[in-house]
Amino acid sequence: MEFINETYISSLINNSKLNNTKLQQEAIQKAKDAKGLTLEESAALLNITDLEISEELFNAAREVKEKIYGNRLVLLAPLYITNLCINNCLYCAFRRDNKELKRKTLTLDEIREETEFLVRQGHKRVLLVCGEHPKKSSMEFIGEAIKTIYDVNFNGGNIRRINANTAPLSLDDFKTLKGFGIGTYQCFQETYHFETYMHMHPDGPKRDYAWRLYAMDRALQAGIDDVGIGALFGLTDYRFETLAMLSHAFNLDEKYGVGPHTISVPRLEPAFNAPVANKPPFAVDDASFKKLVAVIRLAVPYTGIILSTRERAELRREIFKVGISQISAGSRTSPGAYNESQESLKEYEMEQFQLGDHRTLDEVVKDSCDLGFLPSFCTACYRSDRTGDRFMELAKSGNIGKLCIPNALATFKEYAIDFASNETKIAAEKFIKNEIENLDGATKRKTEEMIKKVDCGERDVFF
Ligand code: SAM
Ligand code: SF4
Repeated sequence: MEFINETYISSLINNSKLNNTKLQQEAIQKAKDAKGLTLEESAALLNITDLEISEELFNAAREVKEKIYGNRLVLLAPLYITNLCINNCLYCAFRRDNKELKRKTLTLDEIREETEFLVRQGHKRVLLVCGEHPKKSSMEFIGEAIKTIYDVNFNGGNIRRINANTAPLSLDDFKTLKGFGIGTYQCFQETYHFETYMHMHPDGPKRDYAWRLYAMDRALQAGIDDVGIGALFGLTDYRFETLAMLSHAFNLDEKYGVGPHTISVPRLEPAFNAPVANKPPFAVDDASFKKLVAVIRLAVPYTGIILSTRERAELRREIFKVGISQISAGSRTSPGAYNESQESLKEYEMEQFQLGDHRTLDEVVKDSCDLGFLPSFCTACYRSDRTGDRFMELAKSGNIGKLCIPNALATFKEYAIDFASNETKIAAEKFIKNEIENLDGATKRKTEEMIKKVDCGERDVFF
């Protein structure tokens, strides 16, 4: 655990010399080159309290995000396959000691039905999620679930990339998981603060801090190119958590030549019978949350940042602006919840935690257009083998935009024709037209060609 240096991180957050306007402005200026920041510079920015400097920070984060990713927001939805769990995380409703939670593991037929629901909404990316359980989330079952999801084809619509958020696996199991055809392997450290970690995870396999911390090493060694890290904000000081998570990202980059593909920033939400979730020990206020997202964007400019529906719609709109590149939409956090037949069920009796944004995918898409963000359903990189360092090379050379813009627009056009409500369709068509007008040269020609194909009924057009 040598790369999480608690003493050093604590010294940075307590160093009053870093709370210095000149230092902060210099770091912001440097970050605009999209070359990243050191831990010390990130600490200086996390200490910003001045409103004017905060604005400078937010503007820089937006600028850097646009430089690398343009105005795209990639959409995804979680799919929970089981809420059984042998761990006892104090913040999670799935924890073993929550005897009042209704436990459910989906059958393969139910997984197919859930997937069909998501496909009918227009989703193309799914994040498979499960509790940790030797039988109910075995490798065999995860494999069958992934195959079932990929096999769904509903009127030409399908899921084209499955990412997985599971408990840490052994090297061999990661190899097996790769063989199932997953995109990103995701696992959050929850808290990087050792003592807090031990308190929050009183028993079960998750109590092993180091096994979890080194999960990404094993995943990368097993050949999974894209890994996603995260911290659950609210368990300890958000500045500590952010700097420790950045240390993790820097360490992966140093060791494997490629950092995490994504960073997630889940914030603790109320959860059924989960004492810590209902009264977070270090609740992060909205302003600090926005700040930490902006700092991550500047510190690791080429890493995707994911914002989930844990957050309320109004706040999501604000946070999109400071560097978010992927969002979930229309999510549910209990197994089987997408299926209408479950409507009668009291959802809190099965869900992992409460959500803040209950809008449908269609509403989120329309809202994103209104805010000037291009909703993207693209999965091209994963399917063209542009993962890991090949993706990073392309991103760092500034060429990713040339591929991404046409791909995003073609997939958005597909969404608009096949799935959007009338109102969203009108907004989407206008948005796509404007975007194309702003392009030039080969990118414009390529995009027009692809959009034409989609208009003529071709699907899954990408390059
Ligand atoms: N059980 C596996 C694990 O813990 O790694 C798989 C993922 S778990 C179902 C998904 C994530 O939900 C956790 O890693 C945690 O960060 C997050 N989570 C748990 N309880 C939460 C809560 N009350 N509010 C927000 N996020 C929560
Ligand atoms: Fe289980 Fe994951 Fe919830 Fe912990 S966070 S109780 S491991 S589902």
